[in-house]
Amino acid sequence: MKTIEAMNLIRGQWREASSGERFESLNPADNRQIVGTAPKSKAGDVDEAVAAARQAFEGWRSLSRVKRGEYIDQFAQLMKRDLNALSELVTHECGKPFNEGKADVVEALHMAQYVAGMARMPHGEIIDSEIADKDAYILRKPKGVVGCITPWNFPIAIPLWVALPSLLEGNTVILKPSEDTPICGHRLAELFVEAGFPAGVINVVHGFGEDAGDRLVRHEQTDVILFTGSYAVGHHIEQVCAQMHKFCAIEMGGKNAVIVMDDANLDIAVHAATLSAFKTSGQRCVTSNRIIIHEKLEPEFTKRFIAAAREVKIGNGMTPDTFMGPLINRQGVEKYLMHNQKAQEEGAEIFLPGGEVKEGDLAHGHFVAPFVYRLKHSSSSYVLREEAFSPHVAVIPVSSLEEAVHVYNDTKYGLSMAVITEDYRKWRYVRDHADFGVGYVNLPSIGAEVHLPFGGVKGSGNGHPSAMGVFDAVTHKVAFTVNHATEIVLAQGLSVKLRS
Ligand code: NAD
Repeated sequence: MKTIEAMNLIRGQWREASSGERFESLNPADNRQIVGTAPKSKAGDVDEAVAAARQAFEGWRSLSRVKRGEYIDQFAQLMKRDLNALSELVTHECGKPFNEGKADVVEALHMAQYVAGMARMPHGEIIDSEIADKDAYILRKPKGVVGCITPWNFPIAIPLWVALPSLLEGNTVILKPSEDTPICGHRLAELFVEAGFPAGVINVVHGFGEDAGDRLVRHEQTDVILFTGSYAVGHHIEQVCAQMHKFCAIEMGGKNAVIVMDDANLDIAVHAATLSAFKTSGQRCVTSNRIIIHEKLEPEFTKRFIAAAREVKIGNGMTPDTFMGPLINRQGVEKYLMHNQKAQEEGAEIFLPGGEVKEGDLAHGHFVAPFVYRLKHSSSSYVLREEAFSPHVAVIPVSSLEEAVHVYNDTKYGLSMAVITEDYRKWRYVRDHADFGVGYVNLPSIGAEVHLPFGGVKGSGNGHPSAMGVFDAVTHKVAFTVNHATEIVLAQGLSVKLRS
């Protein structure tokens, strides 16, 4: 693949950062390969993008919703055309196996199709007034300029989860892609241009969180911030937005779990746990770092789970049978090693020691092996309660359904949960008592679909899951009432006479 030079897209024009500085995006499977370079934007560049979005807002909101949907439909056609090339780019820039890169792009395509279809769906509501001669409506109006700040791990899907519903509703957008995957962000910008979106409606500004991202959040002319990423950054953005009286929808990390009950089908349990722990090398927000298991099944489950983890094929994502690609960067590896070290310090019984994998072709990438251990739950544990974002997995024994749910809930997060059981009373108890935004029975804790809400509770999110939640986040729901009579009648029987 040749090195790609990404540019900012501002007011329909390709622009360098005003400083002229650029940064590199490296292939995590082989750091000698530069996937591309991108402008290292600062506050002034963001200011220009916000001005462009503000200027484009009135024209864009004035189009019919159906017309805006047609632009998104055109964008979907282009994604379909470029499906394989985009999938390859995802693998190249963020290391996922090709089939996962493709799933990322397919999910993005599904979102484009879903949002384009929503253009022709009922949009507001008609509601009866207390007064017969009044018509009352609930309408949605765009909030204005939306700043989208996105992570690297779904570099095609997540930007579109947030940008497309915003655009359909008549908002204009500034996207700040992750500094780890700017080239994927740039390809999206090129497709937006090719799809014919009017200048300034969608702008893309590359750069680092503390410069470009921070300015987007603090700019007085961004009306909404849609953030997806880590708890530390998300929580910080929430605080900045609260001080500015700015609305933000925040989707953050998780400390998810597969809960295996005493009656579980072990084939399903082992398969679900393996997919939940090791898909995307444990770098999904819905990855399970915890397998909470009833002690009755623990010995047999553990034996089979370790055997499955040993089978996991680690390699370059473009090699056909690779199951786990590399971690995204050196910081990801350091975080994984730190969690492994802490597990040992907390007294874990280590089943698989993990560690960096440097053999042969993997020498120049960020490859690591599954780290699997057993540890009793404790409310003071670090490793059982903080996101590792890597193939770092605890098997946690419990003796009852109630204890399983208590252990599951005992973190600051509440994103994804899978329960493995044949007993409807057990999954029903878990459904009703566990804190999660995405729940599964006899499935892994991964597997989002775009037309279902996707987001978390507690420290995993502030309640605006994509995609449905994004429609709510980027619109004001307003009441609008029309009188058809020749006199004024007020609700609650209120007198309309000026004097009695
Ligand atoms: P991150 O928080 O490091 O970065 C996310 C984005 O925030 C990047 O674009 C970054 O440049 C920007 N950013 C960083 N500091 C900023 C600041 N001070 N102001 C404004 N923007 C700033 O996350 P990451 O490493 O890219 O992604 C991994 C994390 O994302 C994990 O915690 C994962 O669980 C989470 N995630 C959550 C979801 C979800 O839907 N809940 C989905 C995917 C990933």
